[in-house]
Amino acid sequence: MSIVVIGAGQAALQTIMSLRQGFGSGGYEGDITLIGEEAFLPYQRPPLSKAYLSGKMERDRLFLKPDEFYTDNNVALKLDTCAESLDAAAKSVTLNNGETLAYEYAVIATGSRPRLLDVPGRQLANIFDLRGVADIDAMQPHFVEGKKLVVIGGGYIGLEAAAVAASMGMSVHVLEAAPRLLARVAEPEISEFYTRIHQEHGVTLVTESQMTGFVGDETQGGAVRGVEMADGSIIDADIVITGIGILPNVEIAEAAGLSVENGIVVNELGQTSDAHIFAAGDCTSHPNDLLGRTMRLESVPNAIEQGKAVASAICGAPKPYHQVPWFWSDQYDVKLQIAGVPNKIDSKVLRGDDSTNSFAWFYFTGDKLTGVTAINRPAEFMAGRMLIEKSLKGELAADPRKLVDEGIKPKEWLA
Ligand code: NAP
Repeated sequence: MSIVVIGAGQAALQTIMSLRQGFGSGGYEGDITLIGEEAFLPYQRPPLSKAYLSGKMERDRLFLKPDEFYTDNNVALKLDTCAESLDAAAKSVTLNNGETLAYEYAVIATGSRPRLLDVPGRQLANIFDLRGVADIDAMQPHFVEGKKLVVIGGGYIGLEAAAVAASMGMSVHVLEAAPRLLARVAEPEISEFYTRIHQEHGVTLVTESQMTGFVGDETQGGAVRGVEMADGSIIDADIVITGIGILPNVEIAEAAGLSVENGIVVNELGQTSDAHIFAAGDCTSHPNDLLGRTMRLESVPNAIEQGKAVASAICGAPKPYHQVPWFWSDQYDVKLQIAGVPNKIDSKVLRGDDSTNSFAWFYFTGDKLTGVTAINRPAEFMAGRMLIEKSLKGELAADPRKLVDEGIKPKEWLA
């Protein structure tokens, strides 16, 4: 018996940890090989655009497990190595070093990659994506007080990077193509809140922006000097970060003949259209019975829970994954926590005052609580997340009057 795990991120490591731990009756004892394209052991990505970028976190603290974990758990590491193809009929994976590995089960946890901004001047130096350790190591020397940063994309990546830069005294522009910040991931009132917070920190925000290219020193290796806008104006830049979304890494699955539709199609156990191939994390499209739909999620909690589900299936103790999705973001001294992905919002209520930095919005679809967005309100987030699940299952009604009453503690909502 052997398992080959392709990809070395959070979902991959969680799968391996859960495989070895088992589900009450001893863990998986066969061989496990982990293949990672980057030269690093599996690491956490969330701190990259926050503490690691700001220089407050050492690289060693990024790693999810130390070297010993892999030796102690008999995990063969093949880092700095790419899985080039997967042969589902032969049950083997071929690597870019020519090696072929046979498997009983393969787990595809290939994650995602940044969408590239394909405009003139893209080759200029000091224009960065923000996805891996190497990206941060390359951009960090440019994070110097007084330097000019232009961020393209007002999603989590762009705004977290903008917050780090503004806090260091850099001059920051954020250019967002949509009419509001965080348009893909948060409600309009949260976009307004972040507009206020960033403006208070001196960030210049441009929504409905149309950038057409980069200008700079055109000699070999020359650096960017500015971002060209559709009206011909130039926004000066010493450094540019692009955070315009991601693309799931599905190519190896597609070439292997697996079903792919906005992600590798898996069931609630992470099993693909081939019974011996599983997939977990950003690269999957999976069903969520609780929410009544299929989704592709770009989040750490999703990677962790799907990794556990995959391991449970392989260990013969299936634990299907159907949970309320959740997300977080840290910008300045503000912690954003979101639970639920409402399809449609019929009504909403506010707890606290949203002209301050401490409040929570609750979103309803019909009489079901389907979403919570908490700003510096961890107790409301935690209880709200549990209440969404109970409300969706019909186990407990969510009473909007109790949610907004500051005299009632969040944990009392669940009583
Ligand atoms: P994102 O959330 O998809 O946001 C990208 C934004 O850039 C979108 O609003 C997009 O608008 C906009 N955009 C696209 N093309 C543009 C252009 N040419 N000019 C200006 N704006 C443009 O993705 P992201 O911020 O790049 O984050 C990447 C991934 O990292 C995501 O999976 C994210 O969830 C994850 N991440 C998560 C966290 C967290 O949970 N705290 C933190 C960092 C990163 P359209 O939608 O209209 O294209």
